[in-house]
Amino acid sequence: MNPSNRILSGVQPSGDLHLGNYLGAIKNFVKLQKEYECFFCVVDLHAITVWQDPKQLAQRTREVTAAFIASGIDPEQNVLFNQSQVPQHTQLAWIFSCVTRLGWLNRMTQFKDKAGKDKENVSVGLFSYPVLMAADILIYLATHVPVGEDQKQHLELTRDIAQKFNNDFNTDLFPLTEPLIFGEGTRVMSLRDGTKKMSKSDPSEYSRIMLNDSPDQIVQKIKKAKTDPLPLPSDAKDATQRPEAFNLLSIFSAFNDITIKDAIHQNAGKDFSVFKQNLADIVVEKIAPISKEINKLMDDHTYLDSVMDKGKNKAIIEADSVLNKVYDIIGIKKS
Ligand code: ATP
Ligand code: MG
Repeated sequence: MNPSNRILSGVQPSGDLHLGNYLGAIKNFVKLQKEYECFFCVVDLHAITVWQDPKQLAQRTREVTAAFIASGIDPEQNVLFNQSQVPQHTQLAWIFSCVTRLGWLNRMTQFKDKAGKDKENVSVGLFSYPVLMAADILIYLATHVPVGEDQKQHLELTRDIAQKFNNDFNTDLFPLTEPLIFGEGTRVMSLRDGTKKMSKSDPSEYSRIMLNDSPDQIVQKIKKAKTDPLPLPSDAKDATQRPEAFNLLSIFSAFNDITIKDAIHQNAGKDFSVFKQNLADIVVEKIAPISKEINKLMDDHTYLDSVMDKGKNKAIIEADSVLNKVYDIIGIKKS
């Protein structure tokens, strides 16, 4: 029986979590945990597709776990785990590598963005990571994946892989997983450049507000955020032509749980200095308690490790049963 309401989503321990990760993903996880059976993982094997300092990786993995819990994900009701601890993900990824067509991966725009001009010199893992992502999702037969806008194309690839596997082997094992992309924070942009996604891997710390920033740091970063010299836009058409203004208004609307239209209306014609102060107030109000809780949880490694250990055991049971079915279907003999 395929579970009909199961979620899988992951966050990389590739740096400090930022507002994009919170508004595009984690805030939605918190809402969805009531309706779905949820598997949330820290995807360390994705993080190492670009260089990670071995001294920091374990610590960052704990930080993502702490951020999940501090944001309101209940570790008792959901399965929280570390991707690398469940080897079935990589086992299924290899099988999917043999199903995925090279042309499909060649179309992935995130690879092009991340590889930049140095395409010949990036890791093979960075190129093939969407295949591992498909395995992360389908090893649990997940039906839905809450993600930010930037992951939409990888979710389409996941569906293509599921469909081709099902067709090739005449099975209906894998569901055609749907992305869940909602709210006004599905694509938070850099505070230094409104045309670039806010990212953990951006070299400038002023490009992003981190979940563990202090209130002073948040105020400073919003004050310094790039804007244009005009007052705030008074209609949606004007706003969409001004990427930095649009981004700050989107963040404002996401934190106030209002539409972007209402945010534009409420702030039309204001000076950026006044708006930025209001924005900083709401971001601090929402983020400061999370930041405090992350710091508290980070003092208790034993607790965080025990959460991940419990999650791993639950995840392995589910993942192993699906992998066994896959082996049966493709004719791999188990001992
Ligand atoms: P990296 O730069 O290392 O890829 P990242 O900041 O993109 O890191 P991920 O761990 O890759 O973070 O993504 C975790 C989740 O956060 C995904 O669901 C992704 O879609 C979402 N996300 C990442 N950046 C943004 C953003 N700027 N706006 C909205 N959602 C985002
Ligand atoms: Mg990313």
